[in-house]
Formats: sequence, structure tokens, C-alpha cells
Amino acid sequence: MQETFRLAGGPGFLGPEVYDVVVIGGGPAGATAALYTARAGLKTLVVDKGLTAGAAGMAGQIVNFPGLGPLSGADLVRRIREQAASFGAQFVTDRVLRVDLKSDPRQVWTGGGVYAGRVLIIATGAMGRKHRVPGEERLVGRGVSYCATCDGAFFRDQEVAVVGNTDEAVEEALALTRFAARVHFLPPTRDLRADPALAHELGENPKVTLYPAAHLEEVVGEERVEGVRFRREGQEYVLPVAGVFIYLQGNVPVTDFLEGQLPIGEGGCLLVDENFQTAVPGVFAVGDVLCRHLKQAVVAAAEGAIAAMAADRYLRGRTQLRPDWSR
Ligand SMILES: Cc1cc2nc3c(=O)[nH]c(=O)nc-3n(C[C@H](O)[C@H](O)[C@H](O)COP(=O)(O)OP(=O)(O)OC[C@H]3O[C@@H](n4cnc5c(N)ncnc54)[C@H](O)[C@@H]3O)c2cc1C
Repeated sequence: MQETFRLAGGPGFLGPEVYDVVVIGGGPAGATAALYTARAGLKTLVVDKGLTAGAAGMAGQIVNFPGLGPLSGADLVRRIREQAASFGAQFVTDRVLRVDLKSDPRQVWTGGGVYAGRVLIIATGAMGRKHRVPGEERLVGRGVSYCATCDGAFFRDQEVAVVGNTDEAVEEALALTRFAARVHFLPPTRDLRADPALAHELGENPKVTLYPAAHLEEVVGEERVEGVRFRREGQEYVLPVAGVFIYLQGNVPVTDFLEGQLPIGEGGCLLVDENFQTAVPGVFAVGDVLCRHLKQAVVAAAEGAIAAMAADRYLRGRTQLRPDWSR
């Protein structure tokens, strides 16, 4: 799959490359949307924070996706992404931190750079967290972070903890080994839910110490992070660290990066019309991030296809959705 270049500024910087469509989230919904927009000849970029960071990526086995399976959710997503890439969709692994829906084209900020899209399709799923551990909220920006690419350099030659078990957590931990003196990796499960090659790389890295099945109980510190308190096999531990990077999963729609720019329904979900367009024209939302969405991969994929055709219509001024049939 082709990875796009990140344009983050510097000498000769002319602004980000403009895509017809930027899809945020590359699960079944986002990857299918990209498949359809790329197939329609629209220049398409998908920004996704990690194959196993979403619901599909966590699903051990999917047996009810029509025509495929049984296969793991990660394999299903990989296949849809490869199909989208074969039509020219570009993929970048990064976390979207902020968007500007009013600008034209719309701007998307990630840890590694800024991207611009004439249309945005939001497909970030519902694996966000509501509950935080004691100390976490108070120490955000003072040692607690959710983005190693953004904040890793602040922890040069210091000890940090990474909490999580997905691709995203592992990739962020590996990124931190470039700066930190030691990375303590605390997955909540015995096994990692990450790509085996990534998990192997983590296990082999001499700067990483693993603590399988560690349950984070508190981020310790007054003015700044001073450590993490966790429970493991019935025992309580306190580990002194200067920073803690948290990648734990919940079941809340992921909309934090929107910073209130779209109306939110009950339970934090996004509201759309029958073509999956939000209250902002040219901004669509699909999949588990929606209200009244039946949480199934095939439903998310179908919504991605409908939104993609609506996006094509929006960009090309068509009045009707146009299905894409080859003879
Ligand atoms: C354990 C489990 C088992 C399941 N089993 C089945 C099953 O057997 N059959 C079935 O049909 N469905 C199953 N589901 C439900 C199915 O996985 C979901 O309905 C489907 O994955 C929703 O697709 P989505 O693309 O909307 O969201 P997701 O699959 O959650 O994908 C969202 C994507 O957005 C990315 N993302 C999130 N935030 C950001 C950000 N800020 N920046 C960049 N990227 C971001 C994530 O990395 C992720 O890849 C299961 C779910 C779970 C949790």
C-alpha cells in the first residue's frame, strides 16, 4: 500500500497537498468509503491511527461478512484497504488531533502533519473512552499524553510508561524508544492485540520492559506526572515515570478531535441525514460513530459506500447518487 508524504512545514512550505476526499478512520466504514471514492477517480487519503485500534481490528473472528470468512477483523480491514489502495487510495498511519470544518479546503491536523480535503468522511468508530483513571485528567499536558509523535521529544532520556495493547499503543511505544531512556509497556491483557511483527519488534527492543496484564489504577503526581500505580496478578506496584501515554479502549463514539464543530446526539454519537452528510455540507460520517447505527461490519461498509457516492455527487455537482457498475 502506498504511504503518503506528510507535509509539516519548513523551508519552501506551500501548504498541505489538497485531496478531494480525506477519510478519518480506516475501519470497514472508512476503508469502504475510500474504495468507492478512489474508484470514482477522486484523490483520496485515509488517515488511520492503527489497524487494531478500532472495533474491527479487535474482533477475533468475523463469520458473518457476506462472501468472506471466517477471518479476523484485522484481516477483513486489511483486505478492504488493499482493494481501496488498488484504486489509488493513499493511507497514512497517524492520529487525527484536530480538524477545521469551516476552512476551504478543510484542514486535518495529525501528530505528523496537516492534510487538506475538499470533502471529509468521518469514520472513527466507537472505541473512545469515557472513564479515566484518577490523576489522568488533572495531569493531561503535564506528563499525561495520548500522542507520542507530538510529545515524545519532551521525554528525552527519561522513563515513560505506555498503557494499551493495540497496534497504536505498540507503534507509539516504539516511537518513544527514540527519545526515552526506558519505555515501560503496560498492556491490560496477557496477549497483545497488535500485529505480530510489531509485537515482536517491541519485545526485542532493549529499551522496552513489558508488564503483561497490568491494570492501571492511578497516574501519580501533584504538579507533574511522577509515576503510575497499577495492579498485576493481585499485587500493587508503583513505577516512577516522567510521562504516561495512554491508549486504552472503551465504547464511546470517537469525536474528541471535532472539538464541538458538529452536533452530537445522545451518548456522544454523530447525527447525519439519509446520505450520511452531517450538518456541515461536504462533511460526512459513517459507521459506529453514528447514532442509530447497527454495530456490524457489513452495515458500516454499506454506509461508507453510500457516503462515498454522496461525496462524489457533492464534488461533481450531480443531483443523483450514481452507482458504479462495470460491465
Ligand atoms: C470484539 C468485537 C467483535 C465484533 N464482531 C463482529 C462480527 O463478528 N461481525 C460484525 O459484523 N461486526 C462485529 N463487530 C462490530 C464491528 O467490528 C463494527 O461494527 C465495525 O468495525 C464498525 O466499523 P467502523 O469502521 O465504523 O469502526 P472501527 O472498526 O472501530 O474503525 C474505526 C477506525 O478509526 C480509527 N480512528 C479512530 N480515531 C481516530 C483518530 N482520531 N485518528 C485516526 N484514526 C482514528 C481507528 O484506528 C479504526 O481503524 C465486533 C466488534 C468488536 C469490538
